[in-house]
Amino acid sequence: MVAWLHLDFILKITQQHDYNRRKRLDSDRKIAEITLETKTRRIKDITFNIKNLRFRCKRCATFCCKLGGPKLSVRDVERLEKAGYNKEEFLESGRWGLKGKADGSCVFLQFNQERGFHECSIYDVRPILCRLYPFYLQKMSPDLFMLRIMPCRGISRRVGKLIDERFIINHLSYATSSE
Ligand code: SF4
Repeated sequence: MVAWLHLDFILKITQQHDYNRRKRLDSDRKIAEITLETKTRRIKDITFNIKNLRFRCKRCATFCCKLGGPKLSVRDVERLEKAGYNKEEFLESGRWGLKGKADGSCVFLQFNQERGFHECSIYDVRPILCRLYPFYLQKMSPDLFMLRIMPCRGISRRVGKLIDERFIINHLSYATSSE
């Protein structure tokens, strides 16, 4: 398997996540180990601990949008500004992250009156951490990453895309495609 991914970058940005909040969500699961080639940083192998899981985002905003505003990469900020948003309205002072509301939900989470539920108002330009959700990486050694899943209503055994090697590569590539 030869796929080059920004795994080191993903690790850096996911490590900036609010892990105190995440730790309270104790149902996160270790689903696969990803091994990189030392020199090239290409994926050498993916070994699954849990098989036959599927994922389809329901855009339910149940977990991911209520963990506080995620940390942002420089590109995240540039993307939001390009989409017409002003830093003052979304960037939390003293922290390179999206502002959160008093209840812990993201500042861009809005109630859609027509559809009758909350949804992300910047879905197409959402930050990398939001695009990665519910997956995140834990570094086990310089060349070994553990892929884990945080609580999410989009994970099931029956509905959605099978979380296999191709899915992981596509998902991580998509999440970092503009980095
Ligand atoms: S990532 Fe999961 S929790 Fe977040 S909106 Fe999609 S299904 Fe819901």
